[in-house]
Amino acid sequence: APAATSVEPLTIMGAGLVGSLLSLYLAQRGHEVTVYERRADPRKAGFVEGRSINLALSDRGWRALEGVGIGDEIRRVAIPMYRRVMHDQQGNLTTQPYGQDNQAIYSVSRAGLNRTLLDLAEADPRVHLRFNQQCLGVDLRERQLELRDAETGQRATHAFRRLFGTDGAYSAVRAAMQRTDRFNYSQSYLDYGYKELNIEPGPGGEWLLEKNALHIWPRGQYMMIALPNLDGSFNCTLFFPFEGEKSFAALQTPAQVQAFFEEVFPDVVPLMPDLTQEYFQNPTGSLVTVRCFPWAFDDDVVLLGDASHAIVPFYGQGMNAGFEDCTVLNELLDQYGTDWHAIFEQFQQQRKPNADAMAELALYNFEEMRDRVADPRFLLQKKIESKISAQYPGKWLSLYSQVTFSHTPYAEAWRNGQRQEQIMRRLMPHIQSEADFDRAEVQHLLAQEVAR
Ligand code: FAD
Repeated sequence: APAATSVEPLTIMGAGLVGSLLSLYLAQRGHEVTVYERRADPRKAGFVEGRSINLALSDRGWRALEGVGIGDEIRRVAIPMYRRVMHDQQGNLTTQPYGQDNQAIYSVSRAGLNRTLLDLAEADPRVHLRFNQQCLGVDLRERQLELRDAETGQRATHAFRRLFGTDGAYSAVRAAMQRTDRFNYSQSYLDYGYKELNIEPGPGGEWLLEKNALHIWPRGQYMMIALPNLDGSFNCTLFFPFEGEKSFAALQTPAQVQAFFEEVFPDVVPLMPDLTQEYFQNPTGSLVTVRCFPWAFDDDVVLLGDASHAIVPFYGQGMNAGFEDCTVLNELLDQYGTDWHAIFEQFQQQRKPNADAMAELALYNFEEMRDRVADPRFLLQKKIESKISAQYPGKWLSLYSQVTFSHTPYAEAWRNGQRQEQIMRRLMPHIQSEADFDRAEVQHLLAQEVAR
């Protein structure tokens, strides 16, 4: 049973994915929760949003959604993706399952998910959503927020008692904490940017590529991916160097873009009738990793989600990690009741090593996706690994499965994964085909390795 709680007014900055979910967690415990959000209400007519991207939602995210009873609601608008489909430059396809039989990651629209979470938050009478409120600064000592109303331009100061900073990678709450003593902070950008493109639905609204899959066009130094939408279209993302021979800088005209895509992604070009227009219209996004510590200021302020740990998107875990923050915080609320000092302290101690591990995993997976998945030896290794996990259930779960389909803390998953990779390096020289797995020599070696 939850420890005794006394109800108090709480403040959340940022009604993105993590802030809107967090408001539900806190309200369900009886607190009055005010949520400030810089943007206008995305559910209102006339709201102009950038192109919505799709996110891959997996087990950690699902658990957090189920924790407030909204898993089914979201499942209705999510498309399971059971495998990766790799497209080579000749249009040949290879596939790699993500997990066992029915395991999948789920494609959801970021904007759609955010709107649903806001609807659910608003349905709780204890949640008060305040849109068009931009946080300009936080006075940590006086516990005051400075907000600017985007419609009137007016500035106002609001007192807060407890503030949850979920205002994303460029957090204003974090910016205030950065000016306190011994606050560690770093941000680093990849030399790569990303651009959203679109694959049109077929004439009857059908999917022109395999629907229940995440598609990858791995090209060594760069790649494109596509995730399915409910209406038959796919959202594509091109991850591409900013500078260099093959880069955003090198493609300056529609003719150059068209020729480049026809050369390197020939099988999708016919499915992208608006390619060149979209290419020049859509912004080029940058990819940042943010690390900081501490995440809490006394028992007054705490950061969650991208505000404390923005990562590059290649493991599909940024939102999932932010949602898992909500699960962990909720467990600590069960444990510590209203001892906010203990809650915030335990939260940052538990989560920081896991967020750091996830940041590394995300950078690591970029190489795997853009390069290694095109290598037959790599695909053979993955097949062998899945044979190993079938043979040694409970003793061998692939790194990808630990990250995506388990609740093993990220840091532990990363350590296990590195150990397994060492074993595979010793094993793979003895294996040239799937059948080699059953050779006595290989089985003997494996038994020794797993027993270690
Ligand atoms: P955000 O979603 O950024 O929300 C922050 C909110 O705060 C916004 O609503 C913003 O308007 C508001 N805000 C900001 N500043 C202020 C201010 N000063 N005052 C008031 N409000 C403010 N994650 C996955 O799990 N799976 C994926 O497949 C995946 N793919 C991705 C692909 C790309 C290209 C990118 C860039 C990211 C991807 N992510 C993915 C990561 C995911 O988008 C983020 O981790 C997630 O959105 C973080 O949620 P958040 O609520 O912490 O921050």
